[in-house]
Amino acid sequence: TGSKPDISRVKSAELYEKSKTYFPGGVNSPVRAFKSVYGTPLFIEKGDGCYIWDADGNQFIDFCGSWGPLILGHNNPKIREKVTEVMQNGMSFGAPTALENELAELIIKNNRFVEKIRFTSSGTEAVMSAIRLARGFTSRDKILKFEGCYHGHSDSLLVKAGSGLVTFGETSSAGVPKSFAEETIVVPLNDKTAIEQAFAQFKDQIAAVIIEGIPANNGLIIQDEEYIHFLRKICTDNGSLLIFDEVITGFRVGFEGAAAHYGITPDIVTYGKIIGGGLPVGMYGARAEIMAHISPDGGVYQAGTLSGNPVAMAAGIATLTELNKSSFYKDLNTKAQEFVASIQRFATARNYKFKVFTIGSIFWFAFTDKDKIQSADDIDASSMEKFKIMHRELLNRGIYLGPSGYEVGFVSSAHTKIELEKAKRAIFEALDLVFKK
Ligand code: PMP
Repeated sequence: TGSKPDISRVKSAELYEKSKTYFPGGVNSPVRAFKSVYGTPLFIEKGDGCYIWDADGNQFIDFCGSWGPLILGHNNPKIREKVTEVMQNGMSFGAPTALENELAELIIKNNRFVEKIRFTSSGTEAVMSAIRLARGFTSRDKILKFEGCYHGHSDSLLVKAGSGLVTFGETSSAGVPKSFAEETIVVPLNDKTAIEQAFAQFKDQIAAVIIEGIPANNGLIIQDEEYIHFLRKICTDNGSLLIFDEVITGFRVGFEGAAAHYGITPDIVTYGKIIGGGLPVGMYGARAEIMAHISPDGGVYQAGTLSGNPVAMAAGIATLTELNKSSFYKDLNTKAQEFVASIQRFATARNYKFKVFTIGSIFWFAFTDKDKIQSADDIDASSMEKFKIMHRELLNRGIYLGPSGYEVGFVSSAHTKIELEKAKRAIFEALDLVFKK
């Protein structure tokens, strides 16, 4: 088998020409612009189950799932019906509704890590607010984050590491004041010494350590369980809060996310994506003592015109009700793990420098021969050229992955064995082409 002809993008290209006149890069979120893969962005017209269709009528089996929220697949009838029903009564009131209680109860009754919560409209807002809460609670200013962990685009968190073991953040974006970035300490993942040094150097100044429960925004950089326990202990010993950003992992690796996976009790947890079933919802939560610092009970201000929006709550309720059924995660994770294991077997049998890193229904294709990737430095940027070829070959075979080799893929409950078989065959062909002499 050789390369297949490129899919038709006549309509998508037309729409892109127009969108470029309206939006920077033609998009409303940068990764959508297909800058690190071949071709112009595909404009998506509809989705159903594990399938999406673009404006030219091309059909794909989708492993992006709107970047994580769609654990039940596209256009899930239960979510659609609940949302449609709730919409009949109006879209927004800016006043409390019973639906917020309903979603909160689903979460709090089934989660050991939060006693009180607050809904926001995005993951960025949830994490930004969690950071403010940690600062307000501890009366400290500095936060510590990890190189390669993404926590949304708020000022304090858009910082990366410079050189040196413990370093003040260097902004990752123009427009973030240096003075803000100076409150953010950035260290590599999987490095105990760097954390110990940071706590020694900034004694009694670190409000919180924030980590993605399972880092999944710069490849899938799975940490040793023992390292996460080390973080828990050093935070407790130093009076700092541990924040688990579970915007991806929450309700994905299990109903209680990475915290339950590791058996760790973070002080503050943030959720997003799945919690809104495809509509804009984020959430942060903690034990009641910490949440008591949030306005109007406490002095940490945080608000939102559309926070707890009834239509968005309805989508969350319908989604979490399905996820809360027994064996949901067992079934999904087993299916996903069989899928990725067979891809790994294929690549290993042919001696391809290719590893699938995976947990639950999350997977990441890495063009490497390393058995473990545990820090951002372990990723070879030049390997992304191979992802580019793979991405193109997969699109041409009806398989849609997010348009960047640093992004993870997701299996949903809507992917059946039939589609996973089809996807596997396409992936095998694409790998053969990537590695052909
Ligand atoms: N935290 C993590 C771990 C995320 O993956 C993301 C989004 N990919 C965010 C925060 C920001 O969420 P949002 O895009 O909804 O603002």
